[in-house]
Amino acid sequence: MSEYPGLFDVLVVGGGNAALCAAISAKRTGAKSVLVLEGAPRFYRGGNTRHTRNMRCAHDSATDTLSGPYTEDEFWDDLLRVTGGETDEQLARIMIAESKEMLHWIVEQGVRFQPSLGGTLSLGRTNSFFLGGGRSMLNALYRTAESLGIEVWYDAEVIGLDIADGRFHSARVKIKDQIISIRAASLVAAAGGFEANIDWLKESWGDVAENFLIRGTPYNRGTVLRMLLDKGVQPIGDPTQCHAVAIDARAPKFDGGIITRLDCVVFGIVVNRHAQRFYDEGEDFWPKRYAIWGRLVAQQPDQIAYIVFDASSLKMFMPSLYPPNQAPSIQELAQKLELEPAILLQTVSDFNAAVRPGSFDHTVLDDCRTEGLTPPKTHWARKIEIGPFYAYPVRPGITFTYLGTRVDRDARIQMADGSRAQNMFAAGEIMAGNVLGRGYAAGIGMTIGSVFGRIAGREAAYHAQQ
Ligand SMILES: Cc1cc2nc3c(=O)[nH]c(=O)nc-3n(C[C@H](O)[C@H](O)[C@H](O)COP(=O)(O)OP(=O)(O)OC[C@H]3O[C@@H](n4cnc5c(N)ncnc54)[C@H](O)[C@@H]3O)c2cc1C
Repeated sequence: MSEYPGLFDVLVVGGGNAALCAAISAKRTGAKSVLVLEGAPRFYRGGNTRHTRNMRCAHDSATDTLSGPYTEDEFWDDLLRVTGGETDEQLARIMIAESKEMLHWIVEQGVRFQPSLGGTLSLGRTNSFFLGGGRSMLNALYRTAESLGIEVWYDAEVIGLDIADGRFHSARVKIKDQIISIRAASLVAAAGGFEANIDWLKESWGDVAENFLIRGTPYNRGTVLRMLLDKGVQPIGDPTQCHAVAIDARAPKFDGGIITRLDCVVFGIVVNRHAQRFYDEGEDFWPKRYAIWGRLVAQQPDQIAYIVFDASSLKMFMPSLYPPNQAPSIQELAQKLELEPAILLQTVSDFNAAVRPGSFDHTVLDDCRTEGLTPPKTHWARKIEIGPFYAYPVRPGITFTYLGTRVDRDARIQMADGSRAQNMFAAGEIMAGNVLGRGYAAGIGMTIGSVFGRIAGREAAYHAQQ
């Protein structure tokens, strides 16, 4: 192992939104030297942030790209509802208050927004969409970082942290076949969750985790999180809690991204491998409820399910990368899916018989529902009767995990003994569990990364200057 000469003011581990916001903020706050260590190769830089499209920010009135006000109180109510109260109120309120400024700060760092997308997303008022998506957003942040003189090393995986009594001293970094020790006055841990580490997922989920697909980067293996927890950092969150959605079962094991997601649950019924329904497909608007479906599918036999719909719904949602299975009858569709044809036919017939017609409108909680069916479909219930018939196979697609490091309002890491770490800060997925005990509302991942990244960078720079 070789020692890298000198001492950086701020060392940032990770290369996604949280890391870049932290690095830029540290430099703008006055840190003389900032080094970003990105474990992935340059082409894959940016972790899960590469796949993102939008960020949720409070604002008091409509903007060029947002259709109306979204107050701090409304944001708080949404967060409270999706988490069932499992959130640190102080940190959540700080995040929400600072999210207002984020709409301007992030633009000052070169990021551009576009008018919100319509369709089944219904996020036009609450979420700002990045012009060109997450990659374009990242490219802007990297450009700004480089122009500020921030050093970025790629293929630079942190494999060891020298921490004693809550103080960070140095990081061991693997670059090609070399191991280098790097010293810094402050550390910002922004290295994501452990969603790409199937063995770690199995520790709490058991063997079913083998059937999970990971929607984002294979580089978020939780090595930095594990090292911090092993060095006496206080954990926050439940290891089984994560953001998990139903994605196309044909998606690759890692990094399938947004195009493998399926937004059509509300338009049909969802059955398991026994051709039986298991949950209310019309419970609430899709953006509010889509994040429960990964977990629901994970609880089904073999962790697989099928969204079944008919020709009347085919054009109503964003398709996935893969075409749906198609057949002229429900029985033939069942054969293609290797489900029991008679049972699927019975399930569809029971559903159709229970549908009480109303005025179908997927943009409101409409009055199309079932009666006398268990589980019910409480909105958007329409008979599945117009051929051809379609089905998408779905599996749990893990987006990111919530177990993380506890932080305070300065994004400073807390130690298990209750003390504050001296010079360690965290931002993004690695501390998301402070705000997200469970549940999710679209766009909060990027809010957590941006807001706490900015705070962590600033505080890390202050510490280094002392
Ligand atoms: C398909 C998909 C779509 C999404 N869409 C949205 C959306 O539209 N809006 C939203 O708010 N959220 C979205 N999310 C969630 C969002 O991506 C995350 O919440 C957010 O990007 C987290 O940012 P981060 O910087 O904490 O982590 P990441 O962006 O994942 O960055 C973590 C970084 O750490 C690096 N790293 C890991 N281990 C090491 C190590 N040992 N050494 C060095 N580097 C390391 C990784 O290479 C990576 O660069 C989406 C996620 C996925 C997968």
